[in-house]
Amino acid sequence: MAQIIDGKLTSAQIREEIKAEAATLTAKGTQPGLAVIIVGEDPASQIYVRNKEKACDEVGFYSEKYALPAETTEAELTALIEKLNADNKIHGILVQSPLPKHLDEKRIVAQILPCKDVDAFSEENVGKITLGTPRFLPCTPAGIMELLKRYNIETKGKHAVVVGRSNIVGKPMGLLLLGADCTVTTCHSRTVDLAKYTKDADILVAAVGKSKLIKGDMVKEGAVIIDVGMNRDENGKLSGDVDFEQCEPKASYITPVPGGVGPMTITMLLQNTLTSAKEAANK
Ligand code: NDP
Repeated sequence: MAQIIDGKLTSAQIREEIKAEAATLTAKGTQPGLAVIIVGEDPASQIYVRNKEKACDEVGFYSEKYALPAETTEAELTALIEKLNADNKIHGILVQSPLPKHLDEKRIVAQILPCKDVDAFSEENVGKITLGTPRFLPCTPAGIMELLKRYNIETKGKHAVVVGRSNIVGKPMGLLLLGADCTVTTCHSRTVDLAKYTKDADILVAAVGKSKLIKGDMVKEGAVIIDVGMNRDENGKLSGDVDFEQCEPKASYITPVPGGVGPMTITMLLQNTLTSAKEAANK
């Protein structure tokens, strides 16, 4: 039977630590501040943004939310980002994705000052992560590394298999695991015989977006299984990319969905905003 990695509990512990640091920083005159921009009415994005605002309140951060209409032009969005770039109260800026189709996400993200790009999506910040000298860590992979650390899970020399190669999860996940001395294999939709790789994983990270793709016969006895997937069925019920019932008996550690990786992502966003505020305070 596996030990359940409790992302909710770990996240609450880290938020307490962040809250204490934020209070000290605020007392010295710098309250960490996050600005969140949402364009359009995407219901899932509305929930994410609300959760980010709530999380800021919980740890004593200042926050601003900009809910812009779907017809917002690139020029209007750029003007807002420039205003926030220059605002000393704001240490982190994030533009909630997905953006409406007429807005070029890459060009928009490029407008955010790299020192305020707390999602770590800009070319400069991705480059720094690749070079092993990160300013901020990408939130979801950073949350996973923090879970591994806090559960004392050894990474050195382990074979980590990441299923998924997106820019926000799979690719940076592989880089962080490589930095933690894992031997890393990245799989994707064109991988031939996925199970051949997953069966050899000491640490398996599933970041695909396909409910219960990873079955019990695809994992090794004693594997650490990290499930990033957040898939909703027609009734709105959430499931991961891992078939929990089948995989849990074989795993040594496993993250549940919900309550595993999910709660850590916003916590790491808070951590990055705190890092940015500390840097600003030291300038
Ligand atoms: P993307 O859709 O951007 O990427 C999915 C990846 O999975 C792609 O690299 C794709 O390959 C690969 N893939 C698709 N089908 C298969 C398959 N059958 N076998 C192997 N690989 C496959 O998704 P994201 O990375 O943004 O998100 C992945 C999941 O994680 C989603 O469920 C998302 O909701 C969730 N998520 C959860 C977060 C959290 O905080 N818990 C945060 C972010 C995401 P290819 O590149 O070839 O297309």
